[in-house]
Amino acid sequence: MTTTMTSRERVLAALRGDPVDRTPAVNPTSIATVELMDLVDAPFPDANREPELMARLAACGHTELGFDSVMPVFSIIQDSSALGCKIQWEQKDNWPTVKMTEPIYDSPDDIDVDTDAVLDHPDTQCVVDAIKILRRELGEDVAIIGKTMGPWSMGYHTFGVEPFLLMSLDDQDKTKLVLERLKQLTIDFGIMQIEAGADALTLPDHATGDLVSGEYYHRYLEELHQEFAEAIPAPLILHICGRTVDRMPYIANTGMAAFHYDSKNDPVESMEAVDGRIRLVGNVNNPETLFARGPDEVKAEVKANLAAGVQMVGPECACPLQTPLENLRAIPEAVLEWTEERERAAA
Ligand SMILES: [Zn+2]
Repeated sequence: MTTTMTSRERVLAALRGDPVDRTPAVNPTSIATVELMDLVDAPFPDANREPELMARLAACGHTELGFDSVMPVFSIIQDSSALGCKIQWEQKDNWPTVKMTEPIYDSPDDIDVDTDAVLDHPDTQCVVDAIKILRRELGEDVAIIGKTMGPWSMGYHTFGVEPFLLMSLDDQDKTKLVLERLKQLTIDFGIMQIEAGADALTLPDHATGDLVSGEYYHRYLEELHQEFAEAIPAPLILHICGRTVDRMPYIANTGMAAFHYDSKNDPVESMEAVDGRIRLVGNVNNPETLFARGPDEVKAEVKANLAAGVQMVGPECACPLQTPLENLRAIPEAVLEWTEERERAAA
């Protein structure tokens, strides 16, 4: 197979919707596993708090697994920790989580974000330093993807999921005020990562399929996400889990580069829903396929995405820490197989 692009060129072209020599294997969220932690001696929780370890573990995504991107922000808690949320750091076999039973906010009036202090915090600086290390070590050949959490997700982390969702049902103005007061952190943390060397950013904002409706996305987040696409000078990859076909037409209005979509959405119906107005990336199933099945089943899902014209393939969300490496390697392998099959058919 003839390749004419570096991994970084390939990912950036796919994010723009430009032609590529082959579809890139991209991970907008974590592909860290316990096996990789052991391989390079960079275990959780330290790999979430020490830049050298964070970078070393992230680099494996390219060097050991063959993905076109690396992604050092394995969790969704770095910015929340810096904001003052209590964190359960866990051990090697578990992701750190926000202790949402101990919320730090109760009303919009409690929100007074000192952005400089938040961005100087060791847990946000760790991300910035890891990105710098990755750029230095991997050069210009690999795409580095950072991550900045959206204000809806930060609402869950700071108010607790239930109180935040109840507020969104009861009081639209109050909820919008919360989002308004949290949004600058999303922008500033993102820009800081781009200045450190990130090529693109994942922006998780968990207006998740099973928690809120597409109408909610339209009401609370569509415009805000447009603002992010304008304010942050790099391609953004929106991440929302679950069944999201009902909000994909709204997501396609945001001007973001791509939407990282879940296996609960069929590739063909998803491509129809976004109608060429935003790129898709995903959607290999985590809990069943990547975690519990084998490379053949993984490859079948990758090829279904390629056949549907999905622009970038990878796991649907942060993959389970016990995922077998051969299943993750099957993702880039499937892209190569599929591309070679097509080249042979065309020759
Ligand atoms: Zn997710």
